[in-house]
Amino acid sequence: MDKITLNGKEYSSIDDIPNEFKVLFKDENNNGILSELEIRYNEIKKALEKINSGKGYGLCEVCNEPIDPARLEANPAATTCKKHMK
Ligand SMILES: [Zn+2]
Repeated sequence: MDKITLNGKEYSSIDDIPNEFKVLFKDENNNGILSELEIRYNEIKKALEKINSGKGYGLCEVCNEPIDPARLEANPAATTCKKHMK
């Protein structure tokens, strides 16, 4: 499996990703009824796909600029920078 780069650190597998990133996924499974969570789940799935493919994660989908690490920390599934957030 390809290495995963998250906030400048390399991880050899999803299992090595720190808990603060995983809490989100756990919450989805525990609560997963609200449609808002479903949307969020899809965003997270998309982020995971990017992490797995090793490219695009942490980059804004609109301008392709790196997303502020503080923003990614608050929302690891963020797909846009502050300027382009909805
Ligand atoms: Zn942007």
